[in-house]
Amino acid sequence: MTFMNMPNWLKQRAFLTPDRKALVFENKTWTFAELYNETLKKASLLSLSGIQEGHFCGVLAANRPEMIFTIQALQQIGAVAVLLNSRLTTEEIEWQLRDASASHLLFDSLHEKKAAAILGIRSISISDDLTDARFTPRERCSMSEICSIMYTSGTTGRPKGVIQTYGNHYASATASALNLGLHVDDSWLCTVPLFHISGYSILMKSILYGMEVRLFEKFDAVAINELLQNGEATIISVVSAMLSNMVNRLSGTYSPRFRCMLLGGGPVPLSILEQCKQKNIPVFQTYGMTETSSQIVTLAPEYATEKLGSVGKPLFPCAVKIDGEDEGEILVSGPNVTPGYLNRQEANESSFQDGWFHTGDIGRLDDDGFLYVLDRRSDLIISGGENIYPAEIESVLISHPAIHEAGVTGVADKKWGSVPAAFYVAHHPVTSEELAAFCGEKMASYKVPAYFVKTGELPRNASNKLMRRELAARWSDDHAH
Ligand code: ATP
Ligand code: MG
Repeated sequence: MTFMNMPNWLKQRAFLTPDRKALVFENKTWTFAELYNETLKKASLLSLSGIQEGHFCGVLAANRPEMIFTIQALQQIGAVAVLLNSRLTTEEIEWQLRDASASHLLFDSLHEKKAAAILGIRSISISDDLTDARFTPRERCSMSEICSIMYTSGTTGRPKGVIQTYGNHYASATASALNLGLHVDDSWLCTVPLFHISGYSILMKSILYGMEVRLFEKFDAVAINELLQNGEATIISVVSAMLSNMVNRLSGTYSPRFRCMLLGGGPVPLSILEQCKQKNIPVFQTYGMTETSSQIVTLAPEYATEKLGSVGKPLFPCAVKIDGEDEGEILVSGPNVTPGYLNRQEANESSFQDGWFHTGDIGRLDDDGFLYVLDRRSDLIISGGENIYPAEIESVLISHPAIHEAGVTGVADKKWGSVPAAFYVAHHPVTSEELAAFCGEKMASYKVPAYFVKTGELPRNASNKLMRRELAARWSDDHAH
C-alpha cells in the first residue's frame, strides 16, 4: 500500500456523489459538492497567505464547519495539519508547534486571543471568508505521504507527535467499514473533538464512504439523546464519561435506526456497560490510540454479555498479541499503525520492533482471542508480588452510590513495597471504612486500597484523562515528612 497513488479524495467524492449530504451543523447542511466548494475557497485563502505543499500548519479551532473546510483545504494543498488540543496552555501549544517545525498557525475566531499569545509563528485566521474559489487542487495523493500530526494526550509523559499518513487514515476507515458495514443512510454524529483521532477519523470516513456527518460544537447529552431517539443519526463515537451522562438521562430507548455506539478512549467501568445492556444500547467497545489512527480492536454487541469488559478482536487487517505468557504488554500491527513519532528516536526504537507497535498498555487474550485491556504499564502496582491494576479498583469504586469519580495509584509501603491508595470525589459523605468494606466484597483483599483520600477534583490532562502520576505526586507531597 505504501507506494500507491490515489485520486484526490474529496474531489473524487464530490465527483461521485455531489448531491449527497456531507455535513449537518446546527440548521445548516452541505452536500459533497458544497463541501468541496467551501474547501477550495479555504484552500485559496490559505495558499494566498503563503501555505504551500509540504508545510506543517498548526490548527487551533473549535468543532465548527470552518475547521472541517480548513482540514480538507490543507489536504487539497498537500500541507500537513498539526492538530492542536484547544485546552492546552499557550506554552504547551508553542512547544508542539516548535516540535513539529510548523510554519503557520491557523486559528478560528473563538481562539483569536489564544493565538495572539503564541509568538514566533505566522498566524492566519480561518474565519475570514473569500468569495473567490480559484484554486487548483492536487490531482492525486500518495498513501505514504504525511497527512496529519497529532500529539498523544500526554497521560503517561510528555505528548509525542504521531505521524499519520494518508495510507494510515485510509486503512483505518476501510477497516472500520469492514467491521461495521456501510449503510447508505448512515449518519455519524461527531461530538468528540476534531483535533483528536476520534473526531478526525470521522471526517476521513465521511469522504471515503460518502457519508453524512452531524457535527456538534459541544457535547450536549440531552440534545444528543433526543437526536438518537428520533433516529437522526445511526452511529456516534463516545468516551465513557459521555456515555454515562447520556444513559443517566435517557428515558425510553433509542431509535432502531441507531445502530452503533462506538465507545473507546479509555477504561470503561463495568457498571456502565451493564446499564447499556439493560437499555438495549448497541455498544461497540473499542480499543485504539492516536498511534493506530483510531480503533484497532472492537467488540461487537452480540458478545457484550458473554465477553463483558473485553474490547474484542482486531479489525480485519490488524493483529494483536501479548508480550508475555498470560498477561503482558499489548502489541499491535496493521496498516493503520503510525510509521513513528516525530523527533523521538528513543521512543521509536523502543516502541517499534519487528513490525509490532508496543502500546504501553497491559492486557490479556482469552482462549477465543478476545482482548482485555488491564491498564497502562506505567500505572501497574506491584504489591507483595501481586499485580494490581488501578482501573479495576476505580471501576469498583465508581459503582458505589456515593462516589462520583475515583483515581487509584500505588504508594510506598514498608511491608508490601507498594499498596493502592484511592482518591475520590463524592456525591454524599462516606467513610473510609464503608469504602473498604464495599471493595472487600468485590475484590481480593490485597487489592482493597490501604488509603482513601477525599478530594475536590482529580488531576486530568487536556483530553480529560486521569493522570495517575499526579496522584502519586500529590501523595508524596502530603507525606514528605
Ligand atoms: P500518552 O501516550 O501521551 O500517555 P494517551 O495514551 O492517553 O497519552 P491517546 O492516544 O489519546 O493518548 O490514548 C490512547 C490510550 O487510551 C491507550 O493506549 C489506552 O491506554 C487508552 N485506551 C483506549 N481505549 C481503551 C479501552 N477501551 N480500554 C482501556 N484503555 C483504553
Ligand atoms: Mg499513549
